Amino acid sequence: MTRHETDLCIIGGGISSAMLALKISELRPGLSITVVEAGSRIFNLDQRMNLRRRSLDYGENPWPGDFISDQAGQGIVSRTMAVGGSALHWGGVCNRFSEEDLRLHSMFGLAVDWPIEWKELEKFYCEAERRLGVNGEPSPLPEDWRSEPYPMKPMLMSYNLTQLKAWGQKSGIPFWITPQAKNTAPYDGRAQCIRCNTCAICPTGARYSPDFTFQRLLAEKKIELHDQTLVRKLVLHDTSDKIVAAQAVNRAKPDDPVEYRAPLFVVASGYAWSSHLLLLSLNSRFPNGLANKSGLVGKYMCGHQYIGAHIEIDTKIYPGMNEEHSLISRRFFRSKPGRSFVRHDLRIWESPVGHEPRLRSNDGRLLLGDDLLNDWRTRARRGTARVRAYIDVHPDRDSSLSLDSSVRNRWGDPMPAIDHRLDSATLARQAATKQHIQEIFETLAKADNGKIIATSAGDYLDHPAGGCRMGTNPSTSVTDSYGRAHDHENLYVVGSPTLPTAGCTNGTLTFVALTLRSAERIAAHFPARSANVQNR
Ligand SMILES: Cc1cc2nc3c(=O)[nH]c(=O)nc-3n(C[C@H](O)[C@H](O)[C@H](O)COP(=O)(O)OP(=O)(O)OC[C@H]3O[C@@H](n4cnc5c(N)ncnc54)[C@H](O)[C@@H]3O)c2cc1C
Ligand code: SF4
Repeated sequence: MTRHETDLCIIGGGISSAMLALKISELRPGLSITVVEAGSRIFNLDQRMNLRRRSLDYGENPWPGDFISDQAGQGIVSRTMAVGGSALHWGGVCNRFSEEDLRLHSMFGLAVDWPIEWKELEKFYCEAERRLGVNGEPSPLPEDWRSEPYPMKPMLMSYNLTQLKAWGQKSGIPFWITPQAKNTAPYDGRAQCIRCNTCAICPTGARYSPDFTFQRLLAEKKIELHDQTLVRKLVLHDTSDKIVAAQAVNRAKPDDPVEYRAPLFVVASGYAWSSHLLLLSLNSRFPNGLANKSGLVGKYMCGHQYIGAHIEIDTKIYPGMNEEHSLISRRFFRSKPGRSFVRHDLRIWESPVGHEPRLRSNDGRLLLGDDLLNDWRTRARRGTARVRAYIDVHPDRDSSLSLDSSVRNRWGDPMPAIDHRLDSATLARQAATKQHIQEIFETLAKADNGKIIATSAGDYLDHPAGGCRMGTNPSTSVTDSYGRAHDHENLYVVGSPTLPTAGCTNGTLTFVALTLRSAERIAAHFPARSANVQNR
């Protein structure tokens, strides 16, 4: 067995881990930090233009090797396993939650309150936006106040978005530019966005991706990164409730198990694998898994639902200008008193629906010459927009991740099964919620002589979170507000797993803001060293 000693062992190498390692390395220079990541490092910015081209030309996967074939599960289980995690692929949309998310119980008698004040979280949102490099336009609504401007000017609107914004305005619903972690000017050593429309693989580095942070930390020798190394179990001290080791296996050297010893461990393995690891780490004193005296590890798994529509409107839209960019309205983040509770965001994109290139008419006739042009002119007379609302829904206690012993990886570990369930209050108001969203879509359509072509609803929860929810009471939560496990003084869980509820808009900025807050508390475990000591 190979054994590594380190001051801080971070398990997982996604966006939360990147931000945590970065901030702690600044707060405690000289601290030895080891990041252990199950997947491989894909540090290939110089090849991404080519990978992008091959993906467009041949439909090839632009991210080969970003998953582990037998590390999979039932339900919405995150499959990306590589240094950078899911945010290698993300769209970079960086919306904030709102104060209501933190006060659901005291304001509406629903779900639970978060053990943190909005004013404090807002401070860390600013820091997260600075570190990720977010461009944005401030919300015009006073409730969305911010204490710092966005670090970058908003993305220029395409012709299409300008038209769609005017349409929204006509309907009485204000829309503005969706904030994104994409450079609208050179930022943090990375290039400016060229609006090339393939953000799932960004060839320029304009969209923030955690691999950049890890590469920088490695170049500056601030961390050690052990990739291809899956942590299989956390080990408890013989007599105390402290964690003494993380046992792992390196996929390149499977016959030589690895052990990490550290005074402090942080699980930064995302919403699915964090609870999974804690449940796998059961022992005689914690028969239900570590950090699980409350029985709540893997419970209250959350996320938001969505309802979307395509709406045909009089406005002319020419799809393909910058489809990755959209407008947002936060008008409906606040539920109206005296009405059925409903909160959601609202986004608008240009849509190609009805405007796809074609050589045949609806009745299958071949179109050539004037016929082809006339067909296009007729179809381009009206435009299509895609609209979508992410809806605030609340998890039931039994919305859970459990170990599925019928599916095991090559090491014999049972894989996770996630079964998302909504609480009874959410289920009871679903018809009213649907009706409310339908009315908004109709209002939008009416404002431009439009018609709703199709509506759709997701059958899964997006931006999943939960499983180690934070709180002040150890019998109803797994961690405190900093992610420190109630049951283990030297174990933290950061980011998405700690969310009690998942808001009604993209969650990653919130995962990062919470992680940056945890970083300060984690750093405080280690004494600040003098410059002499640091340089040794
Ligand atoms: C296509 C796509 C688009 C998205 N777009 C957006 C967006 O626009 N806006 C937004 O807010 N969110 C978006 N998301 C979601 C966003 O990517 C995730 O919320 C975010 O990346 C989660 O980061 P994380 O650090 O919590 O976890 P992860 O990214 O899952 O990182 C966890 C890491 O831990 C590793 N790991 C797990 N278990 C172990 C173990 N036992 N040992 C060692 N390593 C382990 C995993 O391999 C993984 O790399 C998108 C996601 C996808 C897939
Ligand atoms: S549109 Fe901008 S952020 Fe997206 S892939 Fe192109 S350069 Fe990158």
